[in-house]
Amino acid sequence: MQFVFDGHNDVLLRLWTHAKDGSDPIAEFADGTTVGHIDAHRAREGGLSGGLCAIYIPSGDLVFADPDVEGRYITPMAAPLDPLPSLAIATEMAAIALRLDAASAWRLCRTVKDIRSAMADNIFAAVMHMEGCEAIGADLSALEVFYAAGLRSLGPVWSRHNVFGHGVPFAFPMSPDTAPGLTGAGFELVRECNRLGVLIDLAHITEKGFWDVAKTTDQPLVASHSNAHALTPVARNLTDRQLDAIRESRGLVGINYATAMLRADGRSDSDTPLGDMIRHIDYLVNRIGIDCVGLGSDFDGATIPEEIGDAAGNQKLIAALREVGYGEADLTKLARENWLRILAHAWREDAA
Ligand SMILES: [Zn+2]
Repeated sequence: MQFVFDGHNDVLLRLWTHAKDGSDPIAEFADGTTVGHIDAHRAREGGLSGGLCAIYIPSGDLVFADPDVEGRYITPMAAPLDPLPSLAIATEMAAIALRLDAASAWRLCRTVKDIRSAMADNIFAAVMHMEGCEAIGADLSALEVFYAAGLRSLGPVWSRHNVFGHGVPFAFPMSPDTAPGLTGAGFELVRECNRLGVLIDLAHITEKGFWDVAKTTDQPLVASHSNAHALTPVARNLTDRQLDAIRESRGLVGINYATAMLRADGRSDSDTPLGDMIRHIDYLVNRIGIDCVGLGSDFDGATIPEEIGDAAGNQKLIAALREVGYGEADLTKLARENWLRILAHAWREDAA
């Protein structure tokens, strides 16, 4: 078994959504369920030892566009969100993360040392991530409060615009150069994350925003759940120029299992072979090196290949990689060690 530390999941969104309908988030995660992708049991079965768990504010107005006869689609951008309801929702999701920790349903990790110790104890190692910072105002005071609650990673924007910058739409085929980059407040956010030791995630940001972060941050460049634009030209994927910058910074790309970001036709379809995942991983490894590629499943946030199904099927990807020739040392890097190196760097821990 190659234990996996994964760069992106939306299990907090699922638990929060179900809690609105009366479900107990602690029981849903600890006791297991048949819905969604991650709980303690399925994670253990698939060797999913932990990952970045996103606080994400849903966009009620988002409606995914159907492809036209040529397979093209442009989903209209979700509208910007109001700050106060966003703060309320983010607080509720952070509280779920803290309650799961208090109940020992998972371990909320603030250091790589915490992650390794949770892995050794066979308990899910959760890292609090924020996917789009609508809950944080331009004065950044909420950032310090969320940091105190355990936040250790954030993407300034999701696929919508906010006070910090601009996101890319869900569109195929389309370049990620769709809108401006960081705002003045966005540059401040990046500098403050550098000061605190919070990882900055470049998934969902426009190409201009990517370069704005690149010239400002002192961290390696990281896209937690994105794939190669050369193979699947959705606006969410990374161009070769972006990939080269990630390589030069010794950063990381987490492979997204979302089928719309893996398939050559950009469609969302669970009937997608693991071969499409291997194609993207091979491409990234060839372009940026084995040290700069990891996993970023998007479990509980995307349509993933049915062969994997959920967290319990995670080792099927590892097995498929083994079959095409990846050795155990390289698989260890892909599965967890690259992520742990990046986090140790962003969090300024001694080499873990
Ligand atoms: Zn995402």
